[in-house]
Amino acid sequence: MGQALQRVEAKSNIGSWASKGGLPLYGLFTLLLIAPIALCAWAIELKVWSVALIFLALGLGLCALAGSLYSRLEAGNRFIEMSVDMFCIIGFDGFFKSLNPSWQKILGFSMEELMAKPRIDFIHPEDRLSTEAEVSRLQNGEITLAFENRYLCKDGSYKWFLWNAVSSPRQRVIYAVARDITERQRAEQERHKFIKTLEAANHELELRNREVERATQLKSRFLAGMSHDLRTPLNAIVGFSDLLADELPGSLNPKQKRFVNHIKQASGHLLQLIKDILDLSRIETGQLELHCEEFHIDSVLPEVLSTIRPIAMAKNIQIQQKLKSSGHVFADRVRLKQVLYNLLSNALKFTPENGTVEVSCYEYGGSICTSVRDTGIGISPENREMIFKEFRQVEDGSASVREGAGLGLAITKGLVEQQQGKIWVESEPGMGSRFTFSLPKAAAAARVFAIAVAENVNDPNLVS
Ligand code: ADP
Repeated sequence: MGQALQRVEAKSNIGSWASKGGLPLYGLFTLLLIAPIALCAWAIELKVWSVALIFLALGLGLCALAGSLYSRLEAGNRFIEMSVDMFCIIGFDGFFKSLNPSWQKILGFSMEELMAKPRIDFIHPEDRLSTEAEVSRLQNGEITLAFENRYLCKDGSYKWFLWNAVSSPRQRVIYAVARDITERQRAEQERHKFIKTLEAANHELELRNREVERATQLKSRFLAGMSHDLRTPLNAIVGFSDLLADELPGSLNPKQKRFVNHIKQASGHLLQLIKDILDLSRIETGQLELHCEEFHIDSVLPEVLSTIRPIAMAKNIQIQQKLKSSGHVFADRVRLKQVLYNLLSNALKFTPENGTVEVSCYEYGGSICTSVRDTGIGISPENREMIFKEFRQVEDGSASVREGAGLGLAITKGLVEQQQGKIWVESEPGMGSRFTFSLPKAAAAARVFAIAVAENVNDPNLVS
């Protein structure tokens, strides 16, 4: 191998032809041709000639054999010299004995420079101990597989090498091949760095999530407590202002009546706001209790309409109904009424006088869809997502209709989604809006409910 490493590339046509097995065949062919002639010559007693011919045949055969061996050696040389891997022989004394040209190309040092100093001088100081340990393993007859260390380049930088090696203790040398894995190592380091950053970001996110969870819990606890503390005195205010308005303790003059009505209205709004906030916090924390049953939307609509009709009449708004579905939903009746009430009261609030509001109900796939369409002010595309978020209202000039706290749609969305439904809006400014919510048809929803109960899933949506 030492000879092979140090050889300069030699080119020979015979070599390449011979390397394909031509020469041995040629020798055999010559032998077969000349041997019978020599034997014939022997037979007719031309002994000198025949001996000469036999020697000639033997000579040609041996030449062919030597040519073949030479060409195989040549092919081996060329493979080592052209390889991108770095082949070398290292003596037990720590010096390179032979190197292929890749060393020069990769490190930038000449062969002479590399062979002049102990090879440990070229190794990164941090890798010297591990390299020496690996070399002593090798010298004890073990094999090196995939050992990595860094080698110095002429420009002062280091390159990562991956080594495979065996030793020959009898010859006191190590036969080794190294591969430049600097790029791979760099990519690996980048990947590690990226993973580390990702892990840190995940950790940060986890901490934040925990904080948010804690804050949400605190908020709901506070809201629950606050709403209880506020509702008790508020109920007293509502109750007593009702008594006053009904003039049970004694008659009131017109001014007193007006004042009492203001108190009634304001405390009524406040009570509703507190209820909404409490609902929202229950939806957020998954603590909202649903009492689901099978029923037709028809059966809840009249009740909602009777509550809403006075407002419609005051604005001369027509309410139309198009109920095309006979399918049942599996939902919480009270909460569904709340959803319908929110959508209808918004439709009336944002529709000018003499407009129209239409409620329709139809089946689509496995769902029952209910739409509330109005001929009101409409919603621009950039606000269509935002209005479903809590405390958000469209910021336009319509302050006259901006009463409310921006909680209705957030609660409506939460209620629909907790009953496995979806809600969406189609609208054009000035052209009106259509809010639609879908709920699974009773059979499908009941099946999901039954499975959940069978699996003993503690899902607050399904708790009754
Ligand atoms: P609130 O009605 O109390 O302000 P909502 O959550 O019910 O709160 O509605 C949020 C906002 O969405 C409203 O303030 C309004 O800007 C817009 N919006 C809701 N329904 C309609 C509708 N039918 N037509 C036009 N805008 C609407």
